[in-house]
Amino acid sequence: MSASVIDFVATEARFGAHNYEPIGVVLSRGEGVWVWDTEGNRYLDCLSAYSAVSQGHCHPKILAAMVEQAHRLTLTSRAFHNDQLAPFYEEIAALTGSHKVLPMNSGAEAVESAIKSVRKWGYEVKGVPDCQAEIIVCANNFHGRTLGIVGFSTDPDTRTHFGPFAPGFKIIPFGDATALAEAITPNTVAFLVEPIQGEAGVILPPAGYFAEVRELCTTNNVMLVLDEIQTGLGRTGKLLAEQHEGIEADVTLLGKALSGGFYPVSAVLSNNDVLGTLRPGQHGSTFGGNPLACAVARAALRVLTEEGMIENAARQGARFLEGLKDIRANTIREVRGRGLMLAVELHPEAGRARRYCEALQSKGILAKDTHEQTIRIAPPLVITSDQVDWALERLATTLTQDFS
Ligand SMILES: *Cc1c(COP(=O)(O)O)cnc(C)c1O
Repeated sequence: MSASVIDFVATEARFGAHNYEPIGVVLSRGEGVWVWDTEGNRYLDCLSAYSAVSQGHCHPKILAAMVEQAHRLTLTSRAFHNDQLAPFYEEIAALTGSHKVLPMNSGAEAVESAIKSVRKWGYEVKGVPDCQAEIIVCANNFHGRTLGIVGFSTDPDTRTHFGPFAPGFKIIPFGDATALAEAITPNTVAFLVEPIQGEAGVILPPAGYFAEVRELCTTNNVMLVLDEIQTGLGRTGKLLAEQHEGIEADVTLLGKALSGGFYPVSAVLSNNDVLGTLRPGQHGSTFGGNPLACAVARAALRVLTEEGMIENAARQGARFLEGLKDIRANTIREVRGRGLMLAVELHPEAGRARRYCEALQSKGILAKDTHEQTIRIAPPLVITSDQVDWALERLATTLTQDFS
């Protein structure tokens, strides 16, 4: 690292809360699948800001929409209407087949808003006695970092010393429909689950799981809330990951790529029932649904479909997965994923995944380790075949090294 890089890193460490442990690279520019550090070194971004930059860094059309809107009007609060919110609602509802939309900012806020809404639905529509609503969630979930959410995390780092936590959540294993059937009671209002557990290390459920989940939720009048904040908007090769399972959620949560990485934009999408219970004054956000966010999100959704990014994610994801499976390295325990949401899990004896990510960095690839042994690979959805092959070559040489 050069003096200037060390300076940036040291200054962050001196003033910042140490709630992250970044790879030692200081980025200053991005375009498409590429990012550049302060020294001018170029890297293929295989994290895409945890899938927020699915449309590629600084997509020119999203940038143009953002600049244009920033010149006109940025924030009104929801005390007044603005001319971007209605078209945003129309476009996202048409794209996803939803009836109602609640705009928020961060993903965690969308999750919190969904929890509030399904509880309210439980009391006012399902008839659950007040303050008795139960929400079922899965072990190893990741839904964000608010107090409400970390209270039902099973990761000790996420929870420890942040209590006391809100009651009303039940934790069951992911991928186990029988456990769901056994956990449901007359007071269950919702099952909140990720279609693929991203932060847990790209964990796919067994085939047929979500069909059973859908059936159980319908039979028991339980709202199925799919957190598609990471899996949604093309990441897995379909607009929504639920489409791989042939099901429809009652409530769908979007965030991350909803703005193409330009701005925090999230949304709760639902049938008429769940969001229909919210009345004026009962929920809100100063920035939620602001005209800048709406203009950015509209452009982010438009380029996703107009430029064939979802189909490309399916095509390049299959190529990438195939290529990863072809790498013969005894460091690799398992390769898995769907679309461009991929992971390489290393054998425990291979050493920490972090070392491999650092080795990849020196070869021009930025990837992120998760849970000690897993390297996740999630490039922007605009990646080309040549770029996939370029990445695979470097991954193959890195993974055949041994850092144990
Ligand atoms: C990132 C993420 C969130 C939280 O989003 P923030 O914008 O970081 O609050 C929630 N759920 C899932 C599945 C995520 O990947």
